[in-house]
Amino acid sequence: MVNQYITNPSTLCLVCSEAITNPLCPSCVSTHILHWAEDKGERIKNLCKKAINALGQQSDRLTTNSTTTCIVCHRNHSVCPFCFTEMIVTYLRNSGIKEKDIDEFKEFFNYIGIPREFIFS
Ligand SMILES: [Zn+2]
Ligand SMILES: [Zn+2]
Repeated sequence: MVNQYITNPSTLCLVCSEAITNPLCPSCVSTHILHWAEDKGERIKNLCKKAINALGQQSDRLTTNSTTTCIVCHRNHSVCPFCFTEMIVTYLRNSGIKEKDIDEFKEFFNYIGIPREFIFS
């Protein structure tokens, strides 16, 4: 899905092609996700870890020509936090996570600055 965009010379998100205006990189978003999963029980915690491993590595491979710097860790990245979060939600949903938990997840990310309308239902 995202692999076709391997070389991207700009500061645009490789998934949605929008400028990355909230430059939080996938691995910093992941930190928040694991924080959220912390008191959600083993199943959700493990699924989040798996999702982050799979999708985080995929996103990391796309950073080659990126000039977008993360506001937290200052690493370059090419996938905006909205798209990354949405990829995680899709993964969790496909893994059978209940809508109630997906909803809490969205609330949580709304709180750190990712509006819930950015996370497609
Ligand atoms: Zn994006
Ligand atoms: Zn970062």
